[in-house]
Amino acid sequence: MAVAKHINFFELRDACAEPGCPLCRIVSRRAEQYIDNTLFEHVSDRSFRKAYRLAGGFCAFHSRGLESFRDGLAVAILGRDILEDRLISFKKRKPWRPVERCPVCVEQDSIETEYLTFLIQSDRDENGREVQAYFTASDGLCVPHYARLISLAKRIPAWLTEFHNHKFETLFTRTSQFIELSAYGRQEDFAKLSQKDKLVWKELALSLRGNRD
Ligand SMILES: [Zn+2]
Ligand SMILES: [Zn+2]
Repeated sequence: MAVAKHINFFELRDACAEPGCPLCRIVSRRAEQYIDNTLFEHVSDRSFRKAYRLAGGFCAFHSRGLESFRDGLAVAILGRDILEDRLISFKKRKPWRPVERCPVCVEQDSIETEYLTFLIQSDRDENGREVQAYFTASDGLCVPHYARLISLAKRIPAWLTEFHNHKFETLFTRTSQFIELSAYGRQEDFAKLSQKDKLVWKELALSLRGNRD
């Protein structure tokens, strides 16, 4: 009997068809949905409000869109709690410190673990070959996500490590070539590089930080 394909299968497949790290893509989309959802539906949820307050709100990265959020009331209700705590600490001249982590960062961590575990376990699944096919046709994981993947399990499918080793080694070689040909006197050879190789430093910067916009 065929095993029903998990929702992760389809979400990962769609993200693999787009450029860049597929997990970064999934994580940013889910983070946006999470923020939307919490601001609209969980503002009156006591446990969410408590966690938000103890964290001092979302981190700087995840609160970057709040001032243009479409529901001002939700932003005001949550923000007032944070400001109230700050006022107390300002008056006492005692620095305020977070007790909890940003709720979106916590959510992101669990999404990352879920998808990385899905990838790690894919060769035990009957849809494993399909996962391998679409994943190896993608740009693969960024450096932070691959580092996280290898820290999660001892046993990782060989195709997954081979694919990433090859990807990062190629990036290393192309970057070395870019540096070498950027030297004085090598202009002619540099001009022969493909457009992609001339801009390899951008690719490297993105791969090192991950592109969770
Ligand atoms: Zn990534
Ligand atoms: Zn955050």
